[in-house]
Amino acid sequence: MILVDSHAHIYSEKFSQDRDEALARALAEGVEKIYMPNIDHTSIDVMLETEAKHPQQCIAMMGLHPTSVDKDFEKELYLVEEWLGKREFAAVGECGIDLYWDKTFLPQQQEALKVQVALAKKHSLPIVLHTRDSFDETYDIIAAAQDGTLRGIFHCFSGTPEQASKVKELNFLMGIGGVATFKNGGLDKVLPHVQLEDLVLETDCPYLAPTPHRGKRNEPVYLPLVARCVAELMDKTIEEVADTTTRNALALFNG
Ligand SMILES: [Zn+2]
Repeated sequence: MILVDSHAHIYSEKFSQDRDEALARALAEGVEKIYMPNIDHTSIDVMLETEAKHPQQCIAMMGLHPTSVDKDFEKELYLVEEWLGKREFAAVGECGIDLYWDKTFLPQQQEALKVQVALAKKHSLPIVLHTRDSFDETYDIIAAAQDGTLRGIFHCFSGTPEQASKVKELNFLMGIGGVATFKNGGLDKVLPHVQLEDLVLETDCPYLAPTPHRGKRNEPVYLPLVARCVAELMDKTIEEVADTTTRNALALFNG
């Protein structure tokens, strides 16, 4: 069984003591590819060092996370743009809108997302979206920009069946992680009504560890727990979930 973790902050300082071991543990469980979303200027060096040390397993994206958007966001975006012109990345991300922590910079977050959508188009890259408490705000920007060329992931999808259909209509995928294993996560009402073709798996480590590790540090080795839960909710085998979500992720990021 081969799995792809489509969203993992494995470069995080939470792994500074045992990153190599965590990656080896993941590989032993079949997690052969791990896509790393960037946060901001502070995460680029350690992310690229992780990729250089584990080039077969860890692949970098480039983008600006919405919680790092403030009044100086243009400087951060300039750096993102510069890096995208310098070398290859798997995707633009993670970017989007976050209204959970702070609504002060919503206009700046919207502007930063629009710029990154344009960068994704310019470089023909998929885009990885963060939509915490902001599905509608993010959807509006993506829908307005969708000209048939945009592809990407609504990462950490935890919305309604209606929102799942809107993601599909946009020709985007849903990133499914630890929330699928939470009792009140809500995905039990969504996953029975979607197709495996619409999904990729993710951990979002070090955050959102699946049950029974909820609240502890998450890591890619836990991805099979998510795959098993998705399989149960969709009445599929874990192998079917692994095969299709792996194919979806590789087609998106390598396409
Ligand atoms: Zn993330």
